[in-house]
Amino acid sequence: MGNPIVFGKGTLEMSLPTRLRTPPSPPPGNLIHCYSPNFLSINRSNSSFHSNGFPSLSHARSNPTADIDAVEEEQTDFAKLKRKIEALGVNPNSCTPGQYDLLYCPKCEGGKSIQRTLSFHINPNRSYAMWRCFDSQCGWAGQVFADIEKAYPGVNIPVKIDSSRPLTGESLRLEPLGDELFAYFAERMISKETLERNNVMQVAGDRKILAFPYRRNGLFVGCKYRTVEKKFWQEKNAEKILYGLDDITEANEIIIVEGEIDKLSVEEAGYYNCVSVPGGAPQTVSIKELPTPDKDTSFQYLWNCINYLDKASRIILATDGDIPGQALAEELARRLGKERCWLVHWPKKDDVSTCKDANEVLKNLGADALRNAIEKADAYQIPDSD
Ligand SMILES: [Zn+2]
Repeated sequence: MGNPIVFGKGTLEMSLPTRLRTPPSPPPGNLIHCYSPNFLSINRSNSSFHSNGFPSLSHARSNPTADIDAVEEEQTDFAKLKRKIEALGVNPNSCTPGQYDLLYCPKCEGGKSIQRTLSFHINPNRSYAMWRCFDSQCGWAGQVFADIEKAYPGVNIPVKIDSSRPLTGESLRLEPLGDELFAYFAERMISKETLERNNVMQVAGDRKILAFPYRRNGLFVGCKYRTVEKKFWQEKNAEKILYGLDDITEANEIIIVEGEIDKLSVEEAGYYNCVSVPGGAPQTVSIKELPTPDKDTSFQYLWNCINYLDKASRIILATDGDIPGQALAEELARRLGKERCWLVHWPKKDDVSTCKDANEVLKNLGADALRNAIEKADAYQIPDSD
């Protein structure tokens, strides 16, 4: 069995404007924020609503769970979900499963105007809840599951990997970067310090081949290679994971980019809480229903890291600006929950063209411009009807 997801326990702090600059290993306790479980039930009248255009809002109040026997309820998934919702500072009894309820936000306490800005949704079969606060200063959003195993069947099935050849820098014949490749990165505004922190290496031999080790808890899980001519390949028989995974262990906000060099670029702009997908982007958005995680082959890396991602209340998609990059953003958002996703728009490079990715922004416009683009990400568009 995998670890049950514990949501909202010390991972929900969000403070503007430095919210993204999570250091690699923040001191424990730094992010802890405690809420009174029944915060929303005190002294607040039901009569003032703030309309925000969110679809299918229901203002009706009922208490769908009042007649369920308390002892029996203790055993159910819904009880687990309710406990997790309570830990967020939201009273689960003020939500009607299947509807979008407007509540007071425990984060911003209704903002300056004390309005109900938190759109909160428990799905009809009560297996998960998701929310977003529409207060422009707050924007708190997230998703929590009653039972991660049931939500994503197969997620915690271990991947079969070839254990006869453990991956290490030695077994892969990796060596520290030489001057030539440091120069290659310097041209892309990636510093020696960032390369060393991420253990970027080169393959021993005459050809100049970059090696990006994929690690979890500091250990090699896989490795991706890239020639200076932009040819890519990766270790076979390795578990697919996100690049930079150890940098999001404690992250409440996560930035996802489309390549290893973009991850390093985002780090140059001051954000460590960034991961890259391992395999580029699909050509188009699939028109099919989402496959179950065990059949979702192209996104196995996401499901293998889902316990890290589910801790985040805000996910910033900073994929490439081209069509495949935007298709990737859509595919990620479909899987991660659009409610908590945000989309970065890359700035203009000059009068005629727009930057394609994080590294182009860094190279052409500098770290401040990259930081600015990330800070200005927009809430991901949610279609009007579900
Ligand atoms: Zn709020």
